[in-house]
Amino acid sequence: MRKPFVAANWKMHKNVQESVDFINQIKGKLPSFDQLEVGIAGTTLALHSMAVAAKDSDVQIIAQNAFKEFEGAYTGEISPKALADSGVDYVLLGHIERRTMFNESNQMVNQKVIATLQAGMTPIICTDETMVQKEHGGSVHYVFAQLMNVLHDVSFDQVKNIIISYEPSWAVGAGQHANPILAEEGCRQIRQTIADSYSYEVADKIRILYGGSVNPDNIEELMRKRDIDGVLIGRASLDADNFLSMVNTVN
Ligand code: PEP
Repeated sequence: MRKPFVAANWKMHKNVQESVDFINQIKGKLPSFDQLEVGIAGTTLALHSMAVAAKDSDVQIIAQNAFKEFEGAYTGEISPKALADSGVDYVLLGHIERRTMFNESNQMVNQKVIATLQAGMTPIICTDETMVQKEHGGSVHYVFAQLMNVLHDVSFDQVKNIIISYEPSWAVGAGQHANPILAEEGCRQIRQTIADSYSYEVADKIRILYGGSVNPDNIEELMRKRDIDGVLIGRASLDADNFLSMVNTVN
């Protein structure tokens, strides 16, 4: 049984106090950690305060980015070691917004995945594809190549705990989610890629999320799909009541 994971991606929203208030608002109202995992990706400056607020609760703290090195002359970068020291559990890597706006390549994402694992945190790796690729039958090859490149040098033992999020680029931030059949197909394709490149046992364990305009109205139908183990929610996660209602739907 794969434990469902509901993750919020706040992107560049909420200041430190608003982030802490949100944690305080939800933390006593979540289902037990044995049934469901909940994580929140706040802005970098808020992460430590969020981790302090989440102490003694089951809220997992997610960073939205991490650099490939622990320290050095890298002005402005975010050390994975500093994130781990600040109480961060997971790191979101390879998000479509970072790939398109900050030119992150598969190789860069792979280096960040390795550094995140070395710092003792778990990567949540985003994979994307475009509607053109999907419609022209190129997605199997594209998703396979993207995943294999970002997982280069990631061992069997490490990959089991990694989370992958299938985020079709036409659905992220679009206000229009992927049809649940297409969302399921994308997640199934990722699981098949893991089975082919690692093993069926690993593919059976790994959690695969769907991300792209998830909201309280569509979450239930998406979560009914066999290969969708959770969701990564952007815009609809910013309101605590909305977020709690989605968590409770999954539970
Ligand atoms: C995201 O940022 O990963 C995302 C899925 O955003 P939204 O839910 O707003 O589409």
